[in-house]
Amino acid sequence: MHPPHNPFENAMAQLDLAAKLRNFDDSFIDSLREPNRDIRVSIKVKMDNGGTEIFEGYRVEYNNSLGPYKGGIRYHPKTEINEVKALAFWMTLKCAVVGIPMGGGKGGITVEPKNLSKSELERLSRGWVESLSDVLGPYKDIPAPDINTTPEIMAWMADEFAKISGDKTLATFTGKPMAKGGSEGRNEATGLGGFYVLETLRKEIGLPEKCEVAIQGFGNVGSNAAKIFIDHGHKVTAVSDSQSGIYNPNGLDIKKVLEFKKNTGTLLNFSKENPECKNITNEELLELPCDILIPAAFENVITGSNADKIQARAILELANGPVTPEADEILFKKNIPVIPDILANAGGVTVSYFEWEQNLKGEHWTPEQIFEKLRPIMETASSEIFNKAKDVNTSLRMGAFIVALERIQRKKLSSI
Ligand code: GLU
Repeated sequence: MHPPHNPFENAMAQLDLAAKLRNFDDSFIDSLREPNRDIRVSIKVKMDNGGTEIFEGYRVEYNNSLGPYKGGIRYHPKTEINEVKALAFWMTLKCAVVGIPMGGGKGGITVEPKNLSKSELERLSRGWVESLSDVLGPYKDIPAPDINTTPEIMAWMADEFAKISGDKTLATFTGKPMAKGGSEGRNEATGLGGFYVLETLRKEIGLPEKCEVAIQGFGNVGSNAAKIFIDHGHKVTAVSDSQSGIYNPNGLDIKKVLEFKKNTGTLLNFSKENPECKNITNEELLELPCDILIPAAFENVITGSNADKIQARAILELANGPVTPEADEILFKKNIPVIPDILANAGGVTVSYFEWEQNLKGEHWTPEQIFEKLRPIMETASSEIFNKAKDVNTSLRMGAFIVALERIQRKKLSSI
């Protein structure tokens, strides 16, 4: 039996590994072992039945050496402080990897949003902002969506913040709807960024021109990634949501799958109506033979218990923290490259940064402008990380850690 995984312990184990590979200043590494601030709040929400419920909320401001704290807010019943701390730490490195002037933060609420009515969800979201308004701001801390938080929720939050603070820039929240100061391309940015990364590294890591792709997670990130990979001639053979998955070795008709998910809220009965597809579990999806396995849901899904069974030729981490350090070691020995989260999913925060810039300048850029700016950022970061990993003879994750840590350390030293 493996012990339950604490994502923050995993994150710190990764930091320790990276620190051994390069001669970093000890006090610099130590400064990254705890966040600058970890704030916990109780949010009192008036429920539709007239009663009041209290929810636990968080904002972790991990590090702001490179710029204001930046990172999403997660709504999930299992969200707790160690998860939010790990995610905030990874945001710090992620922003450094793509070279944007932002630090790392993350927020969350322990809640099952499906159990709330829309107006309860709105009051909860506004309550999170009210409890934390002192620490937020366009030059202080800039939240965004994460799991179960939508553009609509960002619009409520931006509106609440404007009311409380008087700040009219809308730049304190990114991932807003287009009509409320959002950016073109933000919804598909994470999947698209991951695709640019894969394209840059594809030959280097020995993948064919047309790949078979299996995707775990069919939320915003997973479903957009599926569309983008198919649009570029790849074949998506399997997808799954939190309840179940579907597999068709000849390739899925993703438009049909999306339609089904939209109408029924689940993938559960898709195979009944489409007998060419087979039902699979989330665990089975991870172990399918394919070229690229894309975990696009939660952390800790590839661990010491199943890493040995992975048959994919490469892993593209669109989720944060899906592969544990123990699994990393096994996959490295098996020669299965893992393109790490802090590179693979950094397209999301990069377009968030573009949204922030547009809000502050009062501009609205076209989709072409966004994609033209995003692509070279992802390509450059991918090559830098690939070369670093090669020079140091280490994994792509450690290559990415070293690139990021060197950037943060340099900035710290230059500002002393
Ligand atoms: N939640 C996303 C992430 O983990 C996006 C963060 C942002 O846009 O600030 O990268």
